[in-house]
Amino acid sequence: MRIGEIIEELELWAPPALQESYDNSGLIVGTKEWESRGVLVALDCLESVLDEAIAKNINLVVAHHPIVFGGLKRFNGVSYIERVVMKAIKHDVAIYAIHTNLDNVLWGVNAKIMELLGIRNHSILSPMKGSLKKFQVYVPLDSVEVVEEAVFAAGGGKISDYEECSFKTEGIGSFKGTDGAQPFIGAVGERACIHEVKLEFIVSAFAAKAIENAARNAHPYEEMAYEWFAVENASTQYGAGAVGELDQEMKFDAFLALVKKAFGTTLKYTPAVKETVKRVAVCGGSGSFLLGAAKGSGSDVFITADYKYHQFFDADGGISIFDVGHFESEQFTIDLIADRLSEKFPRFAVLKTEVNTNPIQYY
Ligand SMILES: [Zn+2]
Repeated sequence: MRIGEIIEELELWAPPALQESYDNSGLIVGTKEWESRGVLVALDCLESVLDEAIAKNINLVVAHHPIVFGGLKRFNGVSYIERVVMKAIKHDVAIYAIHTNLDNVLWGVNAKIMELLGIRNHSILSPMKGSLKKFQVYVPLDSVEVVEEAVFAAGGGKISDYEECSFKTEGIGSFKGTDGAQPFIGAVGERACIHEVKLEFIVSAFAAKAIENAARNAHPYEEMAYEWFAVENASTQYGAGAVGELDQEMKFDAFLALVKKAFGTTLKYTPAVKETVKRVAVCGGSGSFLLGAAKGSGSDVFITADYKYHQFFDADGGISIFDVGHFESEQFTIDLIADRLSEKFPRFAVLKTEVNTNPIQYY
C-alpha cells in the first residue's frame, strides 16, 4: 500500500487544516508515493522509536507530536531532532504527525479520554466557528440521485450524529448556450427550460473542494450551476476539548481515585468545588487555555495537563483543575490511532510502539 493511502485515511478523520498555527502536522519525512511495509504508532517519534521501526522493518511512523516544529538550518546531528530526521532519511522511514488536528475533532484525542472515564455522550468544549459551509447545486430531475450520492460519498450532508442530510426544492431552470457551448438540451442560441431540483447540503469547509469536484463529476451539464455560502453555525464536529456527563454522580474522592487509576499516575489538583462530580471537561495535553470554556460549560472538574503554579489559582472556586500530566493524558492516543488504522486496513501491519517516550519520571 502507498503511504499516501494511509495519509488519506488519517486526513479524512482529522483534516490537516484543523491544526493550530504553531503546529507542524502532516508528512514530515518521506513521500506519499513510497510503498509502506507497515505503520508504527507512537506519541513522539524519538530516535528510539525510529530504531524500533527500522528493527521491525517498518517504514512509516505515525506520531501524535511532530518531531519538527520550527525550521531546521543545519543537519549535523547536534540536536535530537536533527538526528531523528537524518536517520529517518538515511533509512527511508517516513514520519507523519497527526497532532492538533486530532485534538480538534469530536472523535479524536479527547474522545479517547472520555471513553477512559466511562463518559459516552461527549461534545466539543469549544466549538470551532467557520468550519461549516452550505453547498447548493441545481440538477435536472433524473440526475438528482446520482449527484446527491456523489456529495454524500465525498462527506457532505453530515450534521452531528446524522448523515445523508439534504434539502430539495423543485423549480424551473433556464439557459441559452452561446457559440462554443454544447447544451444538455436544446440548441445553441435557443433558450431552454428544464425541471430542476435545487439540492442543498451542509458540509465541512475542509471537504468543500472534494465535494464540489464530486458533484461536478456526477453532474450531466457542461457547466454545473452551484453556489457556496458561509454558515455561522458552530461545528459540532470540530473544536478544542470535550465535555460530558458521568452516568452516575460520583463523590469527589471516588472520582479522584477513578482518574488516578485510569491514567495510571499521580495527579495535581485544586480542591473540590462541590462534594460530587457529574459534569467533566477534558483536554488532552496543554489545556489551560480552555479553563474559561470549562467553567462556562458548568463542569465540576477540568482534566488536562501542563498547569503552572500560578495558573492553578485561576480555578478560583469555580471548578476543580486536575493536572494528570501531558504524556499520561495522551497515552491512549496511540491505541486510538492504531485502532483506527487497523479497522480501515485490516490486512496491513499496524504496530504500537514498545518504547515509553515520556521524558518525565516520578519518584
Ligand atoms: Zn501533546
